[in-house]
Amino acid sequence: MSQVASEPVTAVETPIRLQYRYTAGHATTRFLRALTEGRLLGQRCPRCRKVYVPPRGSCPTCGVPTDEEVPLADRGIVTSFCIVNVPFVGHAIEMPYVAASVLLDGADITFQHLVQEIPAAEVRMGMRIEAVWAPREEWGPSLENIRHFRPTGEPDAAFEAYKEHL
Ligand SMILES: [Zn+2]
Repeated sequence: MSQVASEPVTAVETPIRLQYRYTAGHATTRFLRALTEGRLLGQRCPRCRKVYVPPRGSCPTCGVPTDEEVPLADRGIVTSFCIVNVPFVGHAIEMPYVAASVLLDGADITFQHLVQEIPAAEVRMGMRIEAVWAPREEWGPSLENIRHFRPTGEPDAAFEAYKEHL
């Protein structure tokens, strides 16, 4: 045995590449097609009345199809967030930046997106935000059509208004 073999292994570099195809399904396909037109589309559960975005075609609580489509505004509130300060391989955004749980007006679940055009230290729970869309010629079937969200300047939402959506 060499001396190197007796030293503890602390890191291993392994080049990895994954190539895969994502099959969106009916509900997500309609959501992604709406995004190509600059629209946000949710689906409402016929039983519990919750609105899901992005829709998956069924309610995970009630186990029933969610056929009713609901157009949603491109604005809402920050329910929670984190400030990213630690650089990582391939990061493309200037640090620090804010990754937030965004609850669109009329929706019952959040999705993750960026909050910018405000210092990270000033982002807060309940802050009203609106989408900043990429130029139309860049739109595709992706939530990346929205570059980020920014504050609207409206008064913050009361905690009671979003406490069930954290
Ligand atoms: Zn339901």
